[in-house]
Amino acid sequence: MTEFPTRFLVMAEESIITEDHSAQSLISAYLEYRRVVGEDDYGKLLTPEEYEKYKQNVLPLRMKNRLFTCWVNPNNMDCKLVGPETMCFCQHRYKQHKTDFETIPTTRPIMLPCRVNGCLCQSYHYVYSTGSNFLRCHCKHPVEDHSTLHPFKCKKETCCKCFGFQNSTTCGCGYPINMHQTVIETQKEREERGHPIGQPTPYAAMGGITGFSSLLDGYMRLDDSGIGAPCEEILSQPIVSSDDPFLRSQLSSLKTLGSGLSPKEVEVLESSLRRPGEKDMEYFERRYQERLKEKNTALPNLALPSTSQDTSKKYKRATSNK
Ligand SMILES: [Zn+2]
Ligand SMILES: [Zn+2]
Ligand SMILES: [Zn+2]
Ligand SMILES: [Zn+2]
Ligand SMILES: [Zn+2]
Repeated sequence: MTEFPTRFLVMAEESIITEDHSAQSLISAYLEYRRVVGEDDYGKLLTPEEYEKYKQNVLPLRMKNRLFTCWVNPNNMDCKLVGPETMCFCQHRYKQHKTDFETIPTTRPIMLPCRVNGCLCQSYHYVYSTGSNFLRCHCKHPVEDHSTLHPFKCKKETCCKCFGFQNSTTCGCGYPINMHQTVIETQKEREERGHPIGQPTPYAAMGGITGFSSLLDGYMRLDDSGIGAPCEEILSQPIVSSDDPFLRSQLSSLKTLGSGLSPKEVEVLESSLRRPGEKDMEYFERRYQERLKEKNTALPNLALPSTSQDTSKKYKRATSNK
């Protein structure tokens, strides 16, 4: 954060007076302001009165007329859900484009023009990038050398080979990026396409963001906007030691809340997780000993989770789901 507005320093003072000492509350107040106002204050902080008025005017529109923006492949998968910071072909971010509408336009496609002074961009147009690497066109010039107007021809005077930005990189979904398109749709249109709309949000320029997993690429996202839910086989797999801390933390609640597991089952589950401080070899040795013991005492109806044999299965997605 480059500047830290004085108003929030005043709030910091207040939070000290009210014995809410955490700087956290101050920072979250500022971040909240930023998320709600986005770029609508054009860099000049709204006064508390203006902020209240802004919220009264804009939030109802935002909740009611939200537009969803994503980058879609030929299989109807949202390979990229555009968020406030996602770059446009015009080199400005999504939040710098018009995204709030008093009434939703009736013409299609819906146009989200760039609001940056002097930018000619007529509507948000997602540009694929891998991390900070932006692509070059077949004409060898980068995105920013191209016109922001369709068909995005190269502006370099010496360049005569460009008929519009072209790149043959393949997206993570397997399709070339030029077979994708930026889709800007209403809530109703999105639902009709069978994609999740999440909760109504007061925040500016949320684009296609509908939940925590929205920042993942489509082929990794496990909801209807991406690859879809994993198959039954994956969901019903036993918990193994390689699972994430979240699952491990669930173990205690499994024990306390009546989860329907017998004490013996919980014990097996527990021993299949690595113990605090246990090294790899110690863990495998302990599991081996336990399995030996189990062979002798033969636990009925309860398969011990195997440690390695099934891992290949785990990543085999049920493509037939789609
Ligand atoms: Zn733009
Ligand atoms: Zn722009
Ligand atoms: Zn060029
Ligand atoms: Zn070009
Ligand atoms: Zn894709």
